[in-house]
Amino acid sequence: MTRVFISRRALLVGSSGLLLAAPAIAVAQTSLTPAPSAPAPSAPTDDSLAKLSCDSSALTPADHALRESLEYVDVSPFGAAKNCLNCSYWLPPQDKACGGCTLLAGQIHPLGYCTSWELAE
Ligand code: SF4
Repeated sequence: MTRVFISRRALLVGSSGLLLAAPAIAVAQTSLTPAPSAPAPSAPTDDSLAKLSCDSSALTPADHALRESLEYVDVSPFGAAKNCLNCSYWLPPQDKACGGCTLLAGQIHPLGYCTSWELAE
């Protein structure tokens, strides 16, 4: 059997390193804990968007014709996967929940869709 001698000094130096590292480990664990998140207070919910009605009364016949040619609808048949909110042509609303579109005139429903949909990057 082999005996290993560890001096008292070596033992104290080694253990003090662990003691010094303990606060750093505690801080690291604290920073890894995700902070509780709350939804943005002004962000509309999916439910409130579904009830939203966008006004198309000011559209000209040409505006309506373009909407029809692009098969615009207020409710996307693809759901959240493809709708105006995630389209590159979407113009976020200024003062109302209905937004706009760089291709179509008038108010555009955020959950709407047309055949020109293109994923926003
Ligand atoms: S191009 Fe079509 S899908 Fe995209 S924002 Fe305009 S209306 Fe919506």
